[in-house]
Amino acid sequence: MQALNVGEEQCFIKSGPREPTEALHFSLASKAKNTYITKCFHQKYGKLSHRWESILKQHAQFDIFASAWLASYLESGKTIYCREGCAGCCNLAVHGTWPEAVAVAGILSAQQATYLTGYINRLNKALPELTDLKSYLRYHRQTLGPCPFLNERGACSIYPMRPLSCRALLSTRPSAWCTVDFSELDPWDKQAYESSLDRQVVAWPSHYVAATQDLGRELEETLLVKMQQKKGWSLSGNFPLMVWLELNCQLSERDNMDSKELCEVLAARAIDSSLLLTISGSGQSPGGY
Ligand code: SF4
Repeated sequence: MQALNVGEEQCFIKSGPREPTEALHFSLASKAKNTYITKCFHQKYGKLSHRWESILKQHAQFDIFASAWLASYLESGKTIYCREGCAGCCNLAVHGTWPEAVAVAGILSAQQATYLTGYINRLNKALPELTDLKSYLRYHRQTLGPCPFLNERGACSIYPMRPLSCRALLSTRPSAWCTVDFSELDPWDKQAYESSLDRQVVAWPSHYVAATQDLGRELEETLLVKMQQKKGWSLSGNFPLMVWLELNCQLSERDNMDSKELCEVLAARAIDSSLLLTISGSGQSPGGY
């Protein structure tokens, strides 16, 4: 997640525009652990396609780092407030990469696909009113409803395949802070909040851990670079929308599609907005932005 200052408001989006990040050096431990995670996934979802396996390995790589970071942070007597059933951050705009979205599209049940379609229909309907990033993020937080992959028990229904932007969120403050509208916060409360943050650890001015977000962005970038090498372009942005796009258009099957054709597909479905999606390395952008 990234904190964005949009005018007076501090808005949160899961991941977001990329910035160069410091390379994070960590030991890629236990190949065995990596294999174990793949095996658990295999038991739940059946045989993996080669494509899913490579995403899963990226995710496992991230999870190994995050577990080690978390263990050492907790040992120092500090607290991370993320708990099972706490889904505050699932009410924010969710960012992801196209390869991650394709992998999730491959495991959705009919019921999950129905929730997803309802969510995308609501988003599409509101789109003409969402004229800038501020209104787009606020609409997600206040009106659209939670991520369509959040189930009725408040748990992530695609947990093993949730994107890196979700994995990267570790909250150093109680969950109530994850959904606060900072534009409505009393200036004194805002000041108290900001001065309470551990600047050595958080991606200031958010209360989320910086190290996991940096690695998440770095691994996302790796996925996008690989995609660009293969296709000549890469796609990232609104995660549920990309999953819906794959379910409905099977773009991953169209090996020779160029970025111009992709823009045409997006325009035909009225989702060619740069608020929603980013096409990189092609000279093309949705909606001509
Ligand atoms: S993918 Fe899962 S963890 Fe991420 S926002 Fe959706 S429900 Fe929450």
